[in-house]
Amino acid sequence: MTVHVLSSGWNRYTFSDLLAEHARFVPSDSKWIKGLLAVPFVLYSQPTGVFETNSVSFTQMSEEAHRRYAEIMRDVEVMLDDHIEHQRDNRSLPSKLKLLVPTIGVFFTRLPLEAAFKYQDRKRFISSRRFVSPSFNDVRLVLNSAQIMAVTTYGTLQLATFDGDVTLYDDGESLVPTSPVIPRMIDLMRKNVKIGIVTAAGYTTADRYYDRLHGLLDAIATSRELTPQQRQNIVIMGGEANYLFEFHAESEHLLRPVPRERWLTAEMAAWSDKSIEALLDVAEAALRDCIKTMALPATLMRKDRAVGIIPTDPSIRIPRESLEETVLVVQKILELSVGGRDFDNKVVPFCAFNGGRDVFVDIGDKSWGVNVCQKWFGGGDDAAPIRGENTLHVGDQFLSAGSNDFKARSVGTTAWIASPAETVELLDELADLMGKKIS
Ligand SMILES: [Mg+2]
Repeated sequence: MTVHVLSSGWNRYTFSDLLAEHARFVPSDSKWIKGLLAVPFVLYSQPTGVFETNSVSFTQMSEEAHRRYAEIMRDVEVMLDDHIEHQRDNRSLPSKLKLLVPTIGVFFTRLPLEAAFKYQDRKRFISSRRFVSPSFNDVRLVLNSAQIMAVTTYGTLQLATFDGDVTLYDDGESLVPTSPVIPRMIDLMRKNVKIGIVTAAGYTTADRYYDRLHGLLDAIATSRELTPQQRQNIVIMGGEANYLFEFHAESEHLLRPVPRERWLTAEMAAWSDKSIEALLDVAEAALRDCIKTMALPATLMRKDRAVGIIPTDPSIRIPRESLEETVLVVQKILELSVGGRDFDNKVVPFCAFNGGRDVFVDIGDKSWGVNVCQKWFGGGDDAAPIRGENTLHVGDQFLSAGSNDFKARSVGTTAWIASPAETVELLDELADLMGKKIS
């Protein structure tokens, strides 16, 4: 019997390791919190209980582990509150959290981590485990629960945006009528929460989106629960931030394209066609080079607002490492040629990302896409857009190269799921908390 976590967990996470790790991994709050939980696991878990009859009782052990984990989560919660204080009054001195995790992002809400941990521990029995320490997934799910609790407790959820592949349906599949996520999305619309499907899929016509989302669109069209007004509570934002469609019951595919001049933000309108073309030309050349140097079984695909590579045959899977390498090469070449990082360059922001089976470079990214939804539902130019703390983006891409869902974190709160089944669980958690708040 190998208690591998005892040897690896204990000495892998020293204080300086946490710092070093975070210099490399931008998006992951989960990693360093996991490191903190590894210590009580090593000290208090009782793996010998499996073969020793006179050891500490199992209940005692799990209660002790639970208490320690909860304390750590509360300590992190307090540290986060202090960070939010610093963020709020724009202090020039960094918070302790900022010193520990230099890449830490903006927080739109506080996070009730202790309560969220207790919730997930009841569900996942984290404290009852003797051989497997609190994992990356455990922490990711605790963070999601904390975020869901926050958006329903400290404010009101007004806008929920969803990624498509892996979030609403399996990679490359579509939202079929039997999908359990559909009634949950309709329930949100019935509660007047606005929905945006913010996907990288960059189709220019309604029929292609209908192919991917027909289960949901048909359900909205035929729902007896939704008022005509509530049926308009959904938009599709394709190509990250490039094609907007609104629900339209009379159209053949239940969607109607919205002309760009009606929704482009002032900043987006300033991206000239010429600069977009020039950026895509550079990206295309870089992608072609990757196909050649790594002999990728891929072909190039150029669209008006994107360029990418797809497998020459749908049955081929390009290795993950090759896809990641391609993203990083293209990203670097683009950054050098347009003189700025992807998300904050002043000419045209772009997003190079690993789509699981392909690599694409899109104009803009999901932060722009979600921001368009915030403005669209916020009531147009003059009215205030829906705010970050009232927005939740649900997606699966937070860690891979380009991680396009992570970009949404700069404009709203986020939940990081790993499968459509997790999205369903998350929406149940959300409905439960929204229900509690009303009563
Ligand atoms: Mg996805």
